[in-house]
Amino acid sequence: MLQTTLKKTFTCSGVGLHSGLPVQVTCRPAPANTGIVFLVETPEGQQRINLGPSAVMATELATTLGNNNASVSTVEHLLAALRGLGIDNAEIAAQSEIPILDGSAEPFVQGIRSAGIVSLPAFRRVLRVTRPVELKDGNKHISVYPVNVPGAFRVNYYIDFPHPAIGRQGLSLDVTPEKFLRVSYARTFGFLREVEYLRSKGLARGGSMENAVVLDDTKILNPDVMRRPDDFVRHKILDFIGDMGMARLPLQGSFSVACSGHAFNNRFLRKLQEEGALEEVTLTASEQAPKTPKTPRRTFLPSIEDSLVLA
Ligand SMILES: [Zn+2]
Repeated sequence: MLQTTLKKTFTCSGVGLHSGLPVQVTCRPAPANTGIVFLVETPEGQQRINLGPSAVMATELATTLGNNNASVSTVEHLLAALRGLGIDNAEIAAQSEIPILDGSAEPFVQGIRSAGIVSLPAFRRVLRVTRPVELKDGNKHISVYPVNVPGAFRVNYYIDFPHPAIGRQGLSLDVTPEKFLRVSYARTFGFLREVEYLRSKGLARGGSMENAVVLDDTKILNPDVMRRPDDFVRHKILDFIGDMGMARLPLQGSFSVACSGHAFNNRFLRKLQEEGALEEVTLTASEQAPKTPKTPRRTFLPSIEDSLVLA
């Protein structure tokens, strides 16, 4: 299985979720073994941020990556798109925030598909989970088991929100470039009282009824931005792919997740690394690079068979 990168450069422009100010991100091809690196504009010039569990600095509202010199917020949907579509190497030139766009990974998927994906003359490297690991905290729970299929990343996700519009939802996904499209379009969601609290702290200024599903105590306030009733669990899987995508290489393992969020996901990723449960392996089997889906995605609707709405 060969490493991949983008065929061409693409740029997405929009507003930052935190600041509400215009920002843009440019994703460029990169040589084999570069990984995914962020090049962040600062007053002192461009600063490089490499991926790794400890590069996650904050998880309130969205995930912020950084080091002593620079930080970049709201990286999770872009990282989910890059990992989900099997991009091993890319340079991400960014400002202090990645644009929130429509609140899903869909615009990044469109950007990657329009740029194209090419193979590189080097075998893919992954971090293989070597033994079962579990983390629990209240109703939050993540466990992972090793899998022997090269590069396989499986997620079984369950949520239980005491809200009539959400309730219990579960979904299993064997994350491949094709199946990633079953979650990539699901928008982020939030509760009105939390949005009001965040706004009072000067956060979420770029959040709107167009880029988030907003709920009050009894209903969805903007149901027109929903694409399926279980968009909530689909977005949670999208976030999980992005949060596990913070590892320096793609992960190989089978994950079960209940009622998690960005902070708990990052705690789990740190635990995997700290406990030495990840082993770098090179996938030498000769396989093609992941295929880019060809049909226009505007008409795409996910099939129902992979979905299980429990509520
Ligand atoms: Zn999200």
